[in-house]
Amino acid sequence: MRPTMVAGNWKMNGLSADAVHLTQAILSADLEQMRPEVVLFPPYTLLHAVTQEAKGTALRWGGQNLFWEPNGAYTGEISGAMLRDMGCRYVLVGHSERRQIFAETDELVARKVKAALSSGLIPVVCVGESEAERAQGATEQVLQRQVEAILPLLNLESNQPNLIIAYEPIWAIGTGQSASPEEAQTVHAFIRKLVAGHSSQLAKRLILLYGGSVKGNNAAALFEQEDIDGALVGGASLSAGEFIQICRAA
Ligand code: PGA
Repeated sequence: MRPTMVAGNWKMNGLSADAVHLTQAILSADLEQMRPEVVLFPPYTLLHAVTQEAKGTALRWGGQNLFWEPNGAYTGEISGAMLRDMGCRYVLVGHSERRQIFAETDELVARKVKAALSSGLIPVVCVGESEAERAQGATEQVLQRQVEAILPLLNLESNQPNLIIAYEPIWAIGTGQSASPEEAQTVHAFIRKLVAGHSSQLAKRLILLYGGSVKGNNAAALFEQEDIDGALVGGASLSAGEFIQICRAA
């Protein structure tokens, strides 16, 4: 049985006091007793506040993005080493908002994945098709392109896959319209098959998260699916009650 994970992507939301309250409220849920690993992705400015609350607990945290160089004249950027220095275990890479608003290509995503791995971070790589690509029946083609861009970076020697993939259909993000459990399962099985083409052992162990309008009331049905190992939660992760409900469903 694969481990499960529920991750909260706070995006560009919250100030220090919010981070303290939200983290404390999540910690009050007794995470040690929960099955999934619970991870928070706060904005960089709130990493310190989260760290202060969460160190020594079962809660983990990560960055929402990173740059591929370790240091240097890159104004406004953050490196993998800097995230490690903040105690991060994970980093989101290639979120659709980065791909769309900041024009991140598959090639750039691969560079970031490489940088994350060499800094000792576990990248949570986001993939997913747009509404238009879905309407054209191009979902598998898009996912194949996005997943194959990072497959060569998977460590075949490792016993544990050194990255996590999150399937986040763009049409489901922030829309309240989640993929149905069956739809999501079909795509997750497809992604696992792509990875199996590279290494069947790794494919079996790979944690595949679903993201896109996951809420307290639809999480359980999604998690029942064979190839869905957890969730990457946006909007609902800003409410401690809703987020804890999702964690309990995993
Ligand atoms: P959502 O966002 O849960 O608000 O749809 C998910 C994400 O973008 O990671």
